[in-house]
Amino acid sequence: MLKQTKSPVSFEVIAQDGQARAGILSTRRGIIKTPVFMPVGTAGTVKGVRFEELESKDLDARIILGNTYHLWLRPGVETISACEGLHRFIGWDRALLTDSGGFQVWSLGALRKISEEGIEFRSHVDGSLRFLSPEVSMEVQAALGSDIVMVFDECAPGKATHDEARASLELTARWAKRSRDKFDQLQREGPDMGSIGLTHPEDTRGGTVARRMPFLPDELTGAQALFGIVQGAAHRDLRRESLERTVEIGFDGYAIGGLSVGEEKSVMWGVVDEVSLRMPPDRPRYLMGVGTPEDLIEAVARGIDMFDCVLPTRNGRTGQAFTSRGKLNVKNAQWKEDQRPLDESCQCSVCQRHSRAYLRHLHQTGEMLAAILLTHHNLAFFLDTMRRVRQSIRSGDFPKFRREFIERLSSSGQ
Ligand SMILES: [Zn+2]
Repeated sequence: MLKQTKSPVSFEVIAQDGQARAGILSTRRGIIKTPVFMPVGTAGTVKGVRFEELESKDLDARIILGNTYHLWLRPGVETISACEGLHRFIGWDRALLTDSGGFQVWSLGALRKISEEGIEFRSHVDGSLRFLSPEVSMEVQAALGSDIVMVFDECAPGKATHDEARASLELTARWAKRSRDKFDQLQREGPDMGSIGLTHPEDTRGGTVARRMPFLPDELTGAQALFGIVQGAAHRDLRRESLERTVEIGFDGYAIGGLSVGEEKSVMWGVVDEVSLRMPPDRPRYLMGVGTPEDLIEAVARGIDMFDCVLPTRNGRTGQAFTSRGKLNVKNAQWKEDQRPLDESCQCSVCQRHSRAYLRHLHQTGEMLAAILLTHHNLAFFLDTMRRVRQSIRSGDFPKFRREFIERLSSSGQ
């Protein structure tokens, strides 16, 4: 059944300072001010953070990520569909972006086999043989009901030769077109549950018969946005070509993929410099998987609008805090009796209440609260930094903000 198609997202640049842009990304689930940092919610949870906290004034995350690969394998699309989509399943009304699963499957290394059709791999959960393709990825992401869907791409290794990177770029371009076609069909008709292993309850013949989704909330059809991904490893000419071919297909936003996978920082900035300002100015620009606080600031200065990274959450679980004066390891004996907060200029509820001494104690005794509090502070620091970035762009002070922020970060001593 055809449904009324609403414009999935709109993007408006409201201020610019040099190449840095402040914008508004409007989705059906609210307004997202850019530049924005998106906390990563791999398996339907931003690890260690309650959704109330994500919505609180401290964090106020307007959009989080979900990982298609992990959710597809566990709990599986059938479960999430039965629970009426990822938003309702996890209890989150704000915007969600899902990746395509391509990067996770690519990261499996020897456990996967790439062909023109897609990627065959063994599930890390139960060892079963699975197959992910542009079509399957689009169907899974449609069933999840995310607000922003990513195309299924192939990520070339950072050190790929020109020939290898070209082959990967060509495959990514063909997969981008197949993603676009399948996505458009799904937006018109609704997900086809047959090919992602979902069957009608009365169908005993297995997953071969195409079935429409049992439920389709109004907001699900015709309201997802699709972002394209630029690849090409470290080769600038290929990056440029990948961008041209991606823009030719046409997407609601554009991402730079395949960076922050172990390459030198100079390589990353070389690629961003080559690509970002050539990206369509009227669409959001997303640098995938990046990065540290200084990376975010430097990328904003190059015209990037969106980021995601596991650093604040992952490092929070291992006892590392990000602060305005650089990283702080709570394990260090020097904090044993230190009454100061993690970051004296942080306004978050953890810094308002707890000392380094207490956080160190929690971490040393293996208390789960250590990870919870550090993760909260780290996310607050990242999200507040982006708030200040946006403010400085709007007031024309971004260059000063950038200089002072980087200086303070590298000033030694906590
Ligand atoms: Zn704090």
